[in-house]
Amino acid sequence: MFAHRLNSSLVTYLGENRLGAMSIHIKKEDRVVMLSGKDRGKTGRVLAVFPKENAVLVERINLMKHHTRQGGYRQQGGIIEREVPVDISNVMLVCPRCSRRARTYRKKLETGYRVRVCRKCQEVIESSS
Ligand SMILES: [Zn+2]
Repeated sequence: MFAHRLNSSLVTYLGENRLGAMSIHIKKEDRVVMLSGKDRGKTGRVLAVFPKENAVLVERINLMKHHTRQGGYRQQGGIIEREVPVDISNVMLVCPRCSRRARTYRKKLETGYRVRVCRKCQEVIESSS
């Protein structure tokens, strides 16, 4: 009885810990490639990152049709396409230096600035932001 209780609380603790430690390796303005879904293989620019949801919004990726109401303006009514955020696990960073899908690691520079480094070409990847 006691052992079981101890066990389950430990599992809960570890689970929470793991979730909280999840880091976002993708930033706004990065170029990413879709790994799954209907847009698999397509690349796009990251428009926004949602760390809490572990999701990213990518330009021209995962488009969903939205019906728009015709307002007072004489805008085009009907259907427009808008991006919908995708899970971060479904995208992978494309290195701007070597143009390959790349995993990154973090390196601390002498200036104290933390940068991402491409594991393929060992070049520092930094977006403009
Ligand atoms: Zn690279």
